Amino acid sequence: DFVNFTVFFDKIIDRFEMTKSQHVSFVRNIPKEALFVEIDTDKITQVLDNIISNALKYSPEGGKVTFTIDKLSSDIQIRIKDEGVGIPKESVNKIFDRFYRVDKARTRKLGGTGLGLAIAKEMILAHGGDIWAQSVEGQGTTVFFTIPYNPEQEDEWE
Ligand code: ATP
Ligand code: MG
Repeated sequence: DFVNFTVFFDKIIDRFEMTKSQHVSFVRNIPKEALFVEIDTDKITQVLDNIISNALKYSPEGGKVTFTIDKLSSDIQIRIKDEGVGIPKESVNKIFDRFYRVDKARTRKLGGTGLGLAIAKEMILAHGGDIWAQSVEGQGTTVFFTIPYNPEQEDEWE
């Protein structure tokens, strides 16, 4: 599908904002301009659903989740930042491995299988993008991913 990613992303965030049960505030840094990309919308919805539900799952009451889209030279970069428990340095690259979960006790309580981010990585790589995370334990986590973007495509649609 050829979609305007800014509108697509906004709608997904709206859905989480309407249904969330915690007191977590959402901040959006999303450009007003149209950014058309060629994506499988079902698959990217699944990627975002997992990243956003992780951000909420590991956020404290009163935390803030920040959603950002940046237009780079040949792709768009999406970031989802939380103020949650964070991930130890030695684990931050492993969270994209199948069945990897940081703290067995902690995550057993919160539920999940440890597959969400492994599937997300597979889907982002299949779109020609990349996905990674940065985290500071006790302060929060940011998950980044990119999707190829051709700025010239915009002109063809004028
Ligand atoms: P599933 O997504 O299959 O329901 P899950 O959420 O445990 O289960 P992933 O989404 O793959 O699995 O995440 C893997 C692990 O990475 C999580 O179990 C958790 O330990 C850690 N993790 C992921 N996102 C965050 C985050 N935003 N803050 C802190 N830890 C995180
Ligand atoms: Mg998950």
